[in-house]
Amino acid sequence: MRWLSGIRKAFHNDGGKDRQESGTANDHRQRRVHIPHDENEAAHAGEPPSKDAIIEAACYYTCSKVCYGVKGQAAQCCAIGERDFIIGPIDDTERFLKDLSSKLGRAVEYADVFMDFEEGSKLFPEKKLWQDPENYPCMRIVDDASIGYPCQFLDQNMKCMVHSIKPDVCRRYLCPYLREIVDQLEYKLDPPDE
Ligand code: SF4
Ligand code: SF4
Repeated sequence: MRWLSGIRKAFHNDGGKDRQESGTANDHRQRRVHIPHDENEAAHAGEPPSKDAIIEAACYYTCSKVCYGVKGQAAQCCAIGERDFIIGPIDDTERFLKDLSSKLGRAVEYADVFMDFEEGSKLFPEKKLWQDPENYPCMRIVDDASIGYPCQFLDQNMKCMVHSIKPDVCRRYLCPYLREIVDQLEYKLDPPDE
């Protein structure tokens, strides 16, 4: 520790008198030696983050940087790709439309954002999940196979452009990979009583 050797030197220059041994705990105001902060002190000060905050940060990190365990991959569940996958059902359509309209400063129509069974089932006749009315309404996707049929709110950097107001289904969704991470963290951060 560099600061400790600095203090020792200062004591040595003061005739070798060790003030820490001759004073009381209240004498700190009389110290001539300024004790610099340990570089790591700030990191250890205050309350530790909550379990929920740690899990939320781990989810955000995983989905943005190591989606499904692939380094540099992000937001794979915001696009359909080639698999049988659907972003629905959306159960807070009204809330989302209201928040989106207020974010954009103009009225946004239901059909601009969501797809119903009638339309979606024709788009992917070979995909089972798209043939189940229970999965609707779903998020409208960009009908372009060359870019993997992404949600229209996914930007080119694989970030959600409506992150703060995104539908609940997006907020709640945990793929099996992320589910495992969350389960492990839940267990490790809050182990069962012995
Ligand atoms: S939930 Fe899973 S698939 Fe979706 S972004 Fe996160 S890690 Fe990727
Ligand atoms: S709204 Fe955002 S989180 Fe939900 S599917 Fe679209 S890009 Fe992904």
